Formats: sequence, C-alpha cells, structure tokens
Amino acid sequence: MTATVVLADDEAIIRLDLKEILIEAGYQVVGEAGNGEDALALIEAHQPNLALLDVKMPKMTGLEIAAKVAGGSTAVVLLTAFSQREMIDEARNADVAAYLVKPFRRNELLPALANVLQRVAEDRAFAVEVGELGLAAEDKLETRRIVDQAKALLEDHGMSEADSFSFIQRQAMATRQRMRDVADQVLSGTLRP
Ligand SMILES: [Mg+2]
Repeated sequence: MTATVVLADDEAIIRLDLKEILIEAGYQVVGEAGNGEDALALIEAHQPNLALLDVKMPKMTGLEIAAKVAGGSTAVVLLTAFSQREMIDEARNADVAAYLVKPFRRNELLPALANVLQRVAEDRAFAVEVGELGLAAEDKLETRRIVDQAKALLEDHGMSEADSFSFIQRQAMATRQRMRDVADQVLSGTLRP
C-alpha cells in the first residue's frame, strides 16, 4: 500500500525538496500547504497516513495542528529548525509520532517515516487484537513487550523489523492464536520462520 502524505511548510523551497524526496521514495503526496490553516484543511479532507508539518508557519503552528488531529488516522511528523530550541522541546513533549530537525537529510527523513508507519501498523494490529480478545490495557502492554522481544530475536536472525512483525502477525492469524502466544513460541525456539 502506498502511504499518503500531506506536507506543509511556509518555505516553498523546503516543500519542493520534501516533495521530491517523498515521491522518489514512493509516497503519494496528496496535498501541500504553505500555512497552518490550509494544512489542517488538507489533513481533514484527505486523512493521509502522514502529515509532515513545519512547526513555525503562518496562521497555525505545526504543534497546534498536531493537537487538533490527535487520535485520528494521521500520524504527525514535525519539522523544526535547529535554532528553535524551545520548539524542539515542545515537539518532544507533544502528541507527535516523530520530529525532525531542519536541515534534514534524505537518509534520515526516509528511515524516520518508515519507522513511524511501522509503529502505526503495529499499534493498529495490537488494537485489533486487544479489541477482539477484550484484553485489558496491561495485557496489551505485556503483549507488546513479548512481541517486541520476539521481533528482536527474529531481527538478530536477519529479518527486517517490518518482516519480523508481519511474520508474527500472519502466523497468529493462520493458526488462530494470539500474537503473544506466537511470540512465546519464537522466544522458546519452537517456532522459526
Ligand atoms: Mg516555517
């Protein structure tokens, strides 16, 4: 599935740069904006997987937008300039998936976005599992902890992070077990890809 993105920065050159990197990497840029109000409207209209938002923009800051779309289907990645030290601290505390300090490089931007999408996919899978099994919040955390351990083990055996997660997820669906039970089998060595 192609991930959709809305990007917003009041500096046209940065939008241009971002857009080029994203399209080249296979992302679908569904909207771009030069101010916060337009960015929010685009996010609401398109419900993209990702919103890349400059912190300091006219009309509405990236942080304000992040607060408005929190809990929705869009993961927010904030862009801050290194000089905006206090913004960086705020971004760190805000409900955002990641923040990047400008000027960023292609080889930090793309892995950061891949990581965000991976976490979103896992959160969704865990939410489905918790919903279906009626698990309590602490069980969800425990599930997550064990699955993370199993993933780390699979990664030690040369699997990518995304592959190791989808292996556990697919195995659970195919055998009608909980992800946690599959992860236990991976950790005890009774199950190998
Ligand atoms: Mg700006």
